[in-house]
Amino acid sequence: MSQGQPEDSGTAPLQANRSPLRRALWAVFVYLLVGLAWIQFSDQLAETWFQDARALSKVQTWKGFLFVGVTGLTLFIVMFRQLRKDRLLLLLQIRQRKVMREHERQLTVLLNNLPGMAFRFRNDLLGSFIFISDGCEELTGYSAEELMTKGSLSKSGLMGDERRMAIAQEAAESIRQQGFFSIEFPITRKCGRDIWVWARGTGLTDDDGSRLLEGIVLDVSKRKELEQELEELATKDALTGLLNRRELSRVLAEELERAHRYHRSLAVLLVDFDHFKKVNDGYGHAAGDLVLSTASQILEDSVRAVDSVGRFGGEEFVVVLPEKGQIEALDTAERLRQAVREKPVILATGERVLVTASIGVAVYPIHGTSVEELSAEADKAMYRAKMRGRDCVAIAQPAQPIHNETT
Ligand code: GH3
Ligand code: MG
Ligand code: MG
Repeated sequence: MSQGQPEDSGTAPLQANRSPLRRALWAVFVYLLVGLAWIQFSDQLAETWFQDARALSKVQTWKGFLFVGVTGLTLFIVMFRQLRKDRLLLLLQIRQRKVMREHERQLTVLLNNLPGMAFRFRNDLLGSFIFISDGCEELTGYSAEELMTKGSLSKSGLMGDERRMAIAQEAAESIRQQGFFSIEFPITRKCGRDIWVWARGTGLTDDDGSRLLEGIVLDVSKRKELEQELEELATKDALTGLLNRRELSRVLAEELERAHRYHRSLAVLLVDFDHFKKVNDGYGHAAGDLVLSTASQILEDSVRAVDSVGRFGGEEFVVVLPEKGQIEALDTAERLRQAVREKPVILATGERVLVTASIGVAVYPIHGTSVEELSAEADKAMYRAKMRGRDCVAIAQPAQPIHNETT
């Protein structure tokens, strides 16, 4: 066994003791020395003290008895101590095995009752399974045996190779930096449904030097859904499902920054529905809500995927058109105006409600360079469109003061 391995510390006390062979040889050596000395000196003493042949013979016999008695007693003491030690060791072993079995049982119960699954993988190219707890079935749809038979994450169908490698790398990096990993990622259940899980654990090195990952995996799909819902609530308008004012302002600032960096243009349209009070007054507020969400959806459906439509408040909407200059922005605004007026909203009662919109257009960098300037200019242009009789498009005036309005 190489030095520095954990096994060394367990056998160190044994190695510190002299070997059994050397100890036995020492005992025999001492026995022989004492025995020979006894035979030599006791015979001499007996012959000195007892000249009579019969008495000497008797003494020799008793001497023999004494020798056998003493060696017998010594043997008894040595054997007794050794056997008692063996028995104690055996009892200790039995007790330890019992404790270990109990610990194993407790661990198994604990692992199998975890809300999720415990795992141990070899962090190799395939992600080979070493251990998976029974909770695996509830989490993934596969039983632990099924997955262990497949042999590795790579063959499990829980995730594609690309994702598995990315997660393994992220785990290794996280362990290197903070000693543990805590990662969220989607897996595909046996039924084919994707769920989000959270894996947390540590890395360790196996006896053969290979890197292992062990920890627990929990289903966090519900939390993820809630997070998504919260995100939607924070960024979307509840009535129309479009971006809310805060999110649209953020998008506009972001697009403006990009336009500024790459010297591109950007257009902002402010859309206000005409005489909307009359819709509410004529059909009721609930119908007004339906008209508002349907008409605003027309705006959303009529622009590119890179454009953003949001509700700025009431029946006012803002459309952000990245990369569009004055002429293209005016074209888009005109298209939106016509799309709105051409599609009447059909109410539950079967009534058809026709709405029109007035649209103000402002373009970066001609009409302004900040979110505030562009919004204000688009707003002013929209009011000019209202002044001109509504259901029309007006463009903002250039930033330089111009005395005669030309739109
Ligand atoms: P115009 O813009 O053409 O000048 O006339 P308008 O009637 O649209 O006037 P204004 O913009 O001042 O009023 C907007 C109206 O839109 C007021 C309100 O009744 C209605 N409105 C605003 N938000 C909602 C909403 O969420 N639901 C419904 N049903 N109506 C709304
Ligand atoms: Mg209005
Ligand atoms: Mg308004």
